[in-house]
Amino acid sequence: MKAALVAADGALLHQARRATGRDHGPDAVVENILGFAAELRALGAERFGEPAAAAGVAVPGIVDEERGIAAYAANLGWRDVPLRDLLTERLGGIPVALGHDVRTGGLAEGRIGAGKGADRFFFVPLGTGIAGAIGIDGRVEAGAHGFAGEIGHIVVRPGGTPCPCGQNGCLERFASASAVSQAWAEACGDPQADAADCAKAVESGDARARAVWQEAVDALADGLVTALTLLDPRTLIIGGGLAEAGETLFAPLREAVRRRVTFQKLPAVVPAALGDTAGCLGAGLLAWDLLNTSTTARR
Ligand SMILES: [Zn+2]
Repeated sequence: MKAALVAADGALLHQARRATGRDHGPDAVVENILGFAAELRALGAERFGEPAAAAGVAVPGIVDEERGIAAYAANLGWRDVPLRDLLTERLGGIPVALGHDVRTGGLAEGRIGAGKGADRFFFVPLGTGIAGAIGIDGRVEAGAHGFAGEIGHIVVRPGGTPCPCGQNGCLERFASASAVSQAWAEACGDPQADAADCAKAVESGDARARAVWQEAVDALADGLVTALTLLDPRTLIIGGGLAEAGETLFAPLREAVRRRVTFQKLPAVVPAALGDTAGCLGAGLLAWDLLNTSTTARR
């Protein structure tokens, strides 16, 4: 878990990390979150003379942001955890916002990171899997059931590799950092080789690496063009492990997207700027939004 005290201007006043303790079961994780938040609140009071006025928490899985419920998180064993109410209670009644991890990180990237000032953006982190955050006028669209933005499960290769989601040929089977790592490990014969190694091999002109890389880029471009056809974003922000390859990814990706569009407008395709602080900063923004709704409306 990462946590921070965040000032009104988005400055990180204090940062801390702690294990989730998930080996001790789903309830232990909830208790650790509550305890961690309460400690930060106390630390804020001690160090800055006043406690946090609101809190924001971002969690993985399926999140019902409106009701403040962590609906489902396979890796934490959660089902319908009323995290917002539990936190409000533990933090002395202050307002609490609950967010989805990727949408919350996307909120920060869109508002104060790579998409700063963009009224419409789409944030896509390429990590273990692929998710997405649809930014509209300073907020991120959750969808009717908390499922919006799941571009990783758009089918780009019908009948292709099976996905744990139940479909075949999902984007994340081809273009996540994990998928590229796996494809490169197989191609080069080193089971330890990962996506970063593949990027280096691409840069040194290795033909096998170029083939693996281009396959990922093409799949990604297919998925992104579907997204931009639906959403017409001004800025497309790509983050996660695979984006760390920089221009090795972005140059062929921009070209692959450009080749595919016909009538659609090309968005700016830019790397994420906030790295792994995006979630913390986004949670801070969610909290500040609770206190400053007029600012949100203006954005
Ligand atoms: Zn899938």
